[in-house]
Amino acid sequence: MKFILPELPYANDALEPIISAKTIEFHHGKHHQTYVNNLNNLLPGTKFENAELETIIKEADGGIYNNAAQVWNHTFYFEQFTSKGNGGKPSGALADAINEKFGSLESFKNEFVTAGVGTFGSGWVWLVQNDAKKLEIVKESNAGNPMTRGLKPILTFDVWEHAYYLDYQNKRPDHLTALWDIVNWSVIEKRL
Ligand code: MN
Repeated sequence: MKFILPELPYANDALEPIISAKTIEFHHGKHHQTYVNNLNNLLPGTKFENAELETIIKEADGGIYNNAAQVWNHTFYFEQFTSKGNGGKPSGALADAINEKFGSLESFKNEFVTAGVGTFGSGWVWLVQNDAKKLEIVKESNAGNPMTRGLKPILTFDVWEHAYYLDYQNKRPDHLTALWDIVNWSVIEKRL
């Protein structure tokens, strides 16, 4: 096995009531694990057999790209959360960049959730840093990762139904809005 499922930096029930232990068990234990397994099964005999994950994402297409990006995206997603009330708030360069681009933290949150709600079907909404070191919000379908377009990921919300259906059913806006309660802003700042 080349790639392995990263352990979560918290217990399965640590994000309740925003994300239930049951959702974490399926989302991390089943979905994320399956992308890791699929990727490991697809790589032998290809030119990506010994490649780094980021290289695979930037250069591969089809099933190898889809599974590699889903492995990376989910690791990045799960790492950015903490128990409700422990996430703090943006400070320093991150707070400055958010205020410069979006006017305020509240405006950024609203714009980000609106982009996530407006992503048709499965996908991801991303906060990224562009070549000019400015922040942007981008929407990606399916496994889409903005690294393929030279953008640096800073924060992402998963809008696939498997991320929220057990807890929120069809109410994607409620789920995305609730996620702000568990974002670990010190993790986000280190990504800038
Ligand atoms: Mn997912």
